Amino acid sequence: MTDSQNLRRLFGLQTGLLAILLLTACPTLCRPTAIRFEFSEPQMGVPFRIVLYAPDRATAEPAARAAFTRISQLNDILSDYDTDSELSRLSQSAGSGRTVKVGDDLWFVLMRSQALAERTGGAFDVTVGPAVSLWRKARREKKLPNPAKLAEALKAVGYQKLRLDLRQHTAQLVAPYMRLDLGAIAKGYAVDEALKVLRAHGIHRALVSGGGDMAAGDPPPGKKGWRIEVGSLDATNAPVPRFVLLANAGLATSGDLFQHVEIDGRRYSHIIDPRTGIGLSDHSLVTVIAPDAITADSLATAVSVLGPERGRRLIEGTKGAAVRIVRLPGRTIETSESSRFKRFCEGP
Ligand code: AMP
Ligand code: MG
Repeated sequence: MTDSQNLRRLFGLQTGLLAILLLTACPTLCRPTAIRFEFSEPQMGVPFRIVLYAPDRATAEPAARAAFTRISQLNDILSDYDTDSELSRLSQSAGSGRTVKVGDDLWFVLMRSQALAERTGGAFDVTVGPAVSLWRKARREKKLPNPAKLAEALKAVGYQKLRLDLRQHTAQLVAPYMRLDLGAIAKGYAVDEALKVLRAHGIHRALVSGGGDMAAGDPPPGKKGWRIEVGSLDATNAPVPRFVLLANAGLATSGDLFQHVEIDGRRYSHIIDPRTGIGLSDHSLVTVIAPDAITADSLATAVSVLGPERGRRLIEGTKGAAVRIVRLPGRTIETSESSRFKRFCEGP
């Protein structure tokens, strides 16, 4: 065989090998690796939504199902509506002198709640349950809570009355009639946990949202982040909405836009100042971005109670956090943003 024949044979062999290699690799190489899927399901009393990118439906669907199952499992633990939840059973021990062993999820949420209660001097306080019940009734009946009943309820409110034993992972509710309410933090934790489940299924480009709280993973293909509209108040001179780009972070919005009651011309929020037991009436919308959704959710409620000045200070002192506050205290809208907020905004 001449040199040129040898070369041609070798070349032919290599081309053939390359063709075989390409054929075997094709299912992986030729398949689009990122198809957008969207799923939604009612969970924790509100619609939850998952948007994710996956190679195919066979990967996307079981992952989304597992994420919703995790949210539902957390609802069974953290709900104050379900009288059989771990949280409700803990509340039922109030004033009995008993300490109660707490499971990992509830423990984590209670620890985060108490830490924020300390930092905010009780503006954020998950023992606010008895006052929340009176305001839920007020919303249904469109009548202010009875002041005597409110004063009575406040005796069972106060984060110092919830004692956590760091070594034993037990909790004690020291005053009778105490009732814990995780409505300001549980959804944030649930979306964080749902995102973790998606990641465990190999899905990293995902956004999980529910009730104004969201947890973002890696951005959609070719994008810097998930494009999220930050709402404004429904007032005539409200500022134009802002868009933020969110990746590997949490975002939460708190305010009286969706849940409030109007009595004698005054609008009261479902967010309560635990020190007075009264629903906020300054008409505000607070959006917080933080490294995760549990942080964003709890901070958004805390800033609503603290107001713009103390609220902004709280955010500036929290690593990786940013806030936008839109308020209508009187007739004119006031908007303020923390120093880090612009970094998340779309555009120049
Ligand atoms: P969010 O929508 O996250 O601001 O949470 C509001 C919910 O948290 C309310 O519906 C109550 O269940 C509960 N809540 C109200 N006021 C407070 C407060 N000051 N601290 C903690 N939780 C609160
Ligand atoms: Mg909240």
